[in-house]
Amino acid sequence: MKCIFCEIINKNIPSSIVYEDEGVIAFLDINPRTRGHTLVVPKRHVSSLIELSDEEVCELFRDVKKCAELLMKKLGATGFNIGLNNGRSAGQLIEHVHVHILPRYGDEGKGFESAFPIDEELSEKVKNMPKGLIDFSTLP
Ligand SMILES: [Zn+2]
Repeated sequence: MKCIFCEIINKNIPSSIVYEDEGVIAFLDINPRTRGHTLVVPKRHVSSLIELSDEEVCELFRDVKKCAELLMKKLGATGFNIGLNNGRSAGQLIEHVHVHILPRYGDEGKGFESAFPIDEELSEKVKNMPKGLIDFSTLP
């Protein structure tokens, strides 16, 4: 099965490119959630952020910043959200790591937290955890 993002990277599928350099391409999401919704994608095919080298992560997020700045300037966005769905359980649909940039306009929009209501039970447990560097075995 061919990876649709690799096809876009190889220009076998046309896309509306926002930015491109040696290691990264950024293009408009065809299912935009906001005006200028952009996907920033490393050119090397890996499914998870964890599989990228530290250098590749630096390059990817440097370009996320570049694109966010570009979208703010060119579209007059007043803010932006950045999202990365990593793994099927996190809602990742295309198994090629990608970062969403959603430019935002106007005042006081909802943040990504609105998709994840606070779990009150977990909240109480976290408040009662020992403070300082955590021991993961004590995590509720
Ligand atoms: Zn791919």
